[in-house]
Amino acid sequence: MTSRYDILFQPIKIGPVTAPNRFYQVPHCNGFGWRMPQGMAAMRGMKAEGGWGVVCTEETEIHHTTDLSPYFEGRMWDDADIPAWQLMTEAVHKHGALAGIELTYNGHDAANLYSRAAAFGVRSMGIAGGGGYEPGQTRAASKDDLKQIRKWHRNAAIRAKNAGFDIIYCYAAHNMTLAFHLMSKENDRTDEYGGSLENRVRFFRELIEDTKDAVGDTCAVAVRFAVDELLGADGIQHDGEGREIVSMLAELPDLWDVNISNWANDSITSRFGKEGHQEKYISFVKQLTTKPVVGVGRYTSPDSMVSAIERGIMDIIGAARPSIADPFLPNKIKEGRHEDIRECIGCNLCVTGDTRFVPIRCTQNPTMGEEWRREWHPEIIAPKKKDDEILIVGAGPAGLEAARALGQRGYKVILTDAKREAGGRVLLESALPNLIEWRRVIDWRLTQIEKLKNIYFYRSSAMSAQDVLESGEPHVIIATGAKWRRDGVGRSNSHPITGSAKIFTPDDLMNGDLPSGNVVIYDDDHYYMGGVLAELLATNGCKVTLVTPAPTISAWTEFTLEQNRIYKRLLDLNVALLPHHLLASHTPTTATVTHAITSAETTLPCDAVVMVTDRTPNDSLYHELKPALADGRLKSLRVIGDAEAPNIIAQAVFAGHLAAREFGEVIDPDITPFKVER
Ligand code: ADP
Ligand code: SF4
Repeated sequence: MTSRYDILFQPIKIGPVTAPNRFYQVPHCNGFGWRMPQGMAAMRGMKAEGGWGVVCTEETEIHHTTDLSPYFEGRMWDDADIPAWQLMTEAVHKHGALAGIELTYNGHDAANLYSRAAAFGVRSMGIAGGGGYEPGQTRAASKDDLKQIRKWHRNAAIRAKNAGFDIIYCYAAHNMTLAFHLMSKENDRTDEYGGSLENRVRFFRELIEDTKDAVGDTCAVAVRFAVDELLGADGIQHDGEGREIVSMLAELPDLWDVNISNWANDSITSRFGKEGHQEKYISFVKQLTTKPVVGVGRYTSPDSMVSAIERGIMDIIGAARPSIADPFLPNKIKEGRHEDIRECIGCNLCVTGDTRFVPIRCTQNPTMGEEWRREWHPEIIAPKKKDDEILIVGAGPAGLEAARALGQRGYKVILTDAKREAGGRVLLESALPNLIEWRRVIDWRLTQIEKLKNIYFYRSSAMSAQDVLESGEPHVIIATGAKWRRDGVGRSNSHPITGSAKIFTPDDLMNGDLPSGNVVIYDDDHYYMGGVLAELLATNGCKVTLVTPAPTISAWTEFTLEQNRIYKRLLDLNVALLPHHLLASHTPTTATVTHAITSAETTLPCDAVVMVTDRTPNDSLYHELKPALADGRLKSLRVIGDAEAPNIIAQAVFAGHLAAREFGEVIDPDITPFKVER
């Protein structure tokens, strides 16, 4: 039967190789890197199993002078690195997909903290890699140095071919690689690699030519190029030099993988950018080349994908985040199961695998990063062992995922929630400014739950301990969430903050109880909540001061690549920002804050305080039921998610999934419950 989506499943020739379809997992970091090759390979293999026609690595260092530590990326320094990559190429080839490797020489983005080598740069310039402020500079690459780098790149390409890769990248994007910097306005060289655009493009052209010469007989040579840096005239622009560069190199590579720079622009969160947000920048590329073009833009809708191809924006749908949230997205489209697609919510928690140096996690897909160490499959779960029934109290992200996954295992599940609408905190938080896509956490789970006849969802059903026991259900999971504290106790204040101001919590605001006038938001949470509530109140006419003990506002959003945009949005809304300050006390008309270092006091006009500090787990039901477990009235009792330990949404989903996987198993607390790469 033909369908509108058939075009997505057409094979595409890329130089000497052929991709089985138009689904292409573009290079993405994952926090496993060279340190945990088995975890990395299993994660990539899962994408291939799910139907991605091409699966790529993350950026891969070609030499020890481009050592990206403390980040864990790929490594192809010498032949000893080949076996680790073979784990990946075999895992990808097993499912008929092509494997691509993104080779990189990063110049001043490489801090070389491990190798202690001097990185080669366009000129001697401050290191931008590592933590962003690593002391030290690059060594200006001489022409001989550039020749060396070309040789290292060539050798890495040959090693990549020997490791089984089908597509070898020359990488010039994300404002990180030496090739990209040579093309930029920072290049003040006076030799044949500086000055005119032709000169500045020379090195990249040479890399592509070398790579084609070295491996082009059997491997496709791809380029990854950022056509715009969103810096206006200060950077490469898609209607300026970006366009000229593509036109100069148009037919040289076998594939163009194009995006915008830097990473925060390329992987913009849903709070600031929507599906297809790069189209306006990249759409010119196809007009200048006959080679296949890959683009990204967090496409999760099959219709948007088909449309992007039909409108001539791209030939191949590139994806990092949509493939993380749903490794089986292509297969689901193929099978006409569009409603089963677990759509990325654009939160960028996945990015924090890289920025926090830990294996990748995903809010929507709790199995992401767990493929090897826990042997979790995103689509398959062990069937039930016997005919048990489980009562789950609370239908937030933890309860919903536990119910869904237990239901998938075949158990009979009774899910209850005090409210009429499912979703818990996600229901409330997704109604905050620009977080609407987060609703997908609820929508996907409810869709799956509705399909499973063995899950019974009772809305508007607040449960007391007596209700639970009277239900007669022998197995109980408590997923009752948490409440934001009202007293200011948190990381920085270990005692309640005294005073007589009108106090609000995020729960109050999200339930529609808004303050007015001068409002102090005290953010000792440091993720998105303080900033997003400042946005909410400022757009509702309050005069907002955001006070935080951290040296900067919404500090943790640096790791999700959002902090600059949050900063700008709050400044645009005239929110006063007061980092490095603790809230000390308050009256009905003032708030007194102290400087975190000097303790100097400042008094602010204040009609209301919003406390974004710690949360209190709603675990009383769990504690009230514990005696029933002890005396045998209950066979099992487990508390999960925010009711166990308040955390991010992803952790609640993970906790729900873990509870479902572990149900009926005997868990020995003395044994590490996953394999460890040593
Ligand atoms: P988590 O993030 O751990 O899933 P949430 O706070 O998002 O936690 O969700 C908890 C859900 O539990 C909320 O929808 C809330 O209405 C529900 N809930 C809390 N206490 C009870 C109770 N005693 N009976 C039924 N539902 C409850
Ligand atoms: Fe998407 Fe968030 Fe998952 Fe990343 S962590 S893939 S942004 S849902």
